[in-house]
Amino acid sequence: MPATAALDVAALRADFPILQRTVHDGRPLVYLDNAATTQKPRVVLDRLAAYYGNENANVHRGVHVLSAEGTEAYEHARRSVQRFLGAEHAREVVFTRGTTEAINLVAHGLASFLEEGDEIVVSALEHHANIVPWQMAAERTGARLRVIPVLDTGDLDLSTLDEVITDRTKVVAVTHTSNALGTVVDLAPIVAAARAVGAAVLIDGAQAAPHTTVDVQALGADFFVFSGHKTFGPTGIGALWGREAWLERLPPYQGGGDMIDRVTFEKTTFAGLPAKFEAGTPHVAGGIGLGTALDYLMEVGMDAVEASEHELIGYAEDRLGAVDGLRFVGTPRKRAGAISFVLDGIHPYDAGTVLDRLGIAVRTGQHCAQPVMDRFGVDGTIRASFALYNTPADVDALVEGLATVRTMFG
Ligand code: PMP
Repeated sequence: MPATAALDVAALRADFPILQRTVHDGRPLVYLDNAATTQKPRVVLDRLAAYYGNENANVHRGVHVLSAEGTEAYEHARRSVQRFLGAEHAREVVFTRGTTEAINLVAHGLASFLEEGDEIVVSALEHHANIVPWQMAAERTGARLRVIPVLDTGDLDLSTLDEVITDRTKVVAVTHTSNALGTVVDLAPIVAAARAVGAAVLIDGAQAAPHTTVDVQALGADFFVFSGHKTFGPTGIGALWGREAWLERLPPYQGGGDMIDRVTFEKTTFAGLPAKFEAGTPHVAGGIGLGTALDYLMEVGMDAVEASEHELIGYAEDRLGAVDGLRFVGTPRKRAGAISFVLDGIHPYDAGTVLDRLGIAVRTGQHCAQPVMDRFGVDGTIRASFALYNTPADVDALVEGLATVRTMFG
């Protein structure tokens, strides 16, 4: 068993209360479903309890002390997101319900600039959340969806970029890291091709934010989105980063309180950034919890997280590769977070059910990426997905569990 580099994983594990629990007759929990959602460190749990127990108030509107404190905590969290993403201004950070809502917000806004004959480019690796909102925008406007194809390795076929991204392209929306296969996409040539034709670029960072240092300046995109619950924060909260000039241009997504400047029955004028995109009472506790989670990650150090996970993923690939009858779905050049595979003659659901009885949580099925499953000719896969608190022992448990699956079904 290799030691995990750069991080004291044992100490980190102690920060996550749920990792101490057992399931099914006292078996230790081996949590390998981090691409679906991550567990929460105690600092986040404590922060949520402290907020509701001691500070709860509506933000941005009260003169009283609780409202002022709540507003300060919520805006502090926005600055944590700003730092985590390397963004220039906190006002470029919009809190959303998660990645899905953030993409819908951008697709809705960009649709107001699209016309018949325009093209929206996505990749063949996208989660449904980065396909369907663009299809809806295309349907409303007469624009057309185009797709960067994927190779058998699970890497995108970048040799097609000149053909797919053209002067008709107005939007390029691609994932940073595939939730289904674990592919880390080589974004630089895609962003460069999009820039060369003046297209707006959105990066779906849902599966990148928990695993790597994000620097939106270096990525060179216009929008970057991610979910709090996949980044050790609460559910129901996420963030959109957008370049200020783009956020100024986009129309509001929802109307209501907090997003206005002046309302009369004749005409309403809107608030400045980021309030323009945050109609109604926000998820104050969620925002504060997300800020706490990101502060925690920045303290651990995302470079160390990435190095440690890289080593663990390599170990997992080696050990899984030696399992009889196991076939990887996707063997990408660079991988983060997830490993997808199938077992000869055994349905992923059956495998997942047996693994669960052994205390091992993996995801089986299509991973909200049906086009990826179609492309690789499978109904679904078994997906083991890792986070900063996983260990080589978790990988060993999975490999032993798969041996049990094979004896039962093989
Ligand atoms: N994009 C990717 C790559 C994802 O993995 C997910 C979640 N599985 C989403 C988008 C959607 O995120 P959420 O459900 O948190 O909005």
